[in-house]
Amino acid sequence: MQFTILSNNMTDCKTNQATTTTIIMINNTLAIESIATHPDFRRLASIADISVDLRYASPHNFVGRDLYAPVDCAWLHQHAAQSLERAVAWLKQERGDVSLRVLDALRPQRVQEALWAALQGTDLLMYLANPVRGSIHSFGMAVDITLVDLSGHELDMGTPFDDLSERSHPAKEAALLAKNELTAQQISHRQLLRDAMRHGGFVGISSEWWHFDCGDRDLVRSEYTRIL
Ligand SMILES: [Zn+2]
Repeated sequence: MQFTILSNNMTDCKTNQATTTTIIMINNTLAIESIATHPDFRRLASIADISVDLRYASPHNFVGRDLYAPVDCAWLHQHAAQSLERAVAWLKQERGDVSLRVLDALRPQRVQEALWAALQGTDLLMYLANPVRGSIHSFGMAVDITLVDLSGHELDMGTPFDDLSERSHPAKEAALLAKNELTAQQISHRQLLRDAMRHGGFVGISSEWWHFDCGDRDLVRSEYTRIL
């Protein structure tokens, strides 16, 4: 087993005294409780001009309970945070009437395992990364995200977030349009979201209109710190 020990020398803002925090990572992992001491991660609140509604930190998700309490999961890896800022800037330039709303960001490994367990015995497991391999969310390098108008109402994307049906699949939009199961306007909303995220450096996936990975998934799995 591989251990990595990092020491952070920081100055406490309240006491102005230098403190040393030692972070012990096993196989490049870090407990969510220690995330605030790790220099690679940023709070979502540090990203201007987005709104945040973490659905797994509320009962409004397909499991029906808060999966994040009592830990604070409103974090991203700094690389994903910078990419999101680029997406915000592009969207601002293109459209003054919509903005981005983050629905999920950093999802600790323990929550990925709880979701995996909740979906056992259903045909919905295809929507979830096997926790053994790991979700890109658990590295703080993926976001679930949508668009809102000036009054804060979510744009109509044809399905709600986490609608685990084929209507959520970007890869099937042309066929769904032909069958009148999606409208041209719903697809254009999704396309605007994809354009903004692509300009930031994110890559979408074929099965969920709301999910975007920052950069190459294999690279993330091999090089980045997984949050437990
Ligand atoms: Zn996702």
